[in-house]
Amino acid sequence: MDLNSPLFDRIRVKPAKSAPEKPKAKILCSHPGCQEEGVFRAPKGREREGEYFTFCKDHVREYNATYDYFKGMDDESMAKFRQADAIGHRPTWKLGDRAAASHVDETVFAEARAARRRGLKGKAPQTEAAPRYNALALKALMTLELDGQATQARIKARYKDLVKRHHPDANGGDRSSEDKLREIIQAYNYLRANKLV
Ligand SMILES: [Zn+2]
Repeated sequence: MDLNSPLFDRIRVKPAKSAPEKPKAKILCSHPGCQEEGVFRAPKGREREGEYFTFCKDHVREYNATYDYFKGMDDESMAKFRQADAIGHRPTWKLGDRAAASHVDETVFAEARAARRRGLKGKAPQTEAAPRYNALALKALMTLELDGQATQARIKARYKDLVKRHHPDANGGDRSSEDKLREIIQAYNYLRANKLV
């Protein structure tokens, strides 16, 4: 680079206008990696009473949609949410009716039945390219034994297969298959909450 170039000088002497300082007290969304402002408060759940996440609009919606599945669970996904930590003081969000959601097993299996019904409608296979997935979405895909190349059609088909394969009815009521099924449904639900499927 020619440091004596007039062009370089012109660039260098460009006055650096000091923009008015924005207030730095912005609270970031609790969702891992999200840079949006966290303005919605969401309870951390059991054993963490009085503690809250602060989410942006999109992620509080997502949290709301997946809350039932995290409720009472002690798995990796819940741990992920618990890792994300931020302090918020703006009580603008309420859990509402979902707080009174019934026992998680019932929810999970109702979801499995609903998904099965949806699957039986037999939609035409989609041929769209795979969207770009964030880390949590990729983790959900891994649970569904898929990778970042998965299209919506592929995710739906795999989900249907896995639910069938791990349903306790197909495994003589085996509890371990129930746990696996719960993971699968949770992963799928995460993708659905993020409009990825
Ligand atoms: Zn967010």
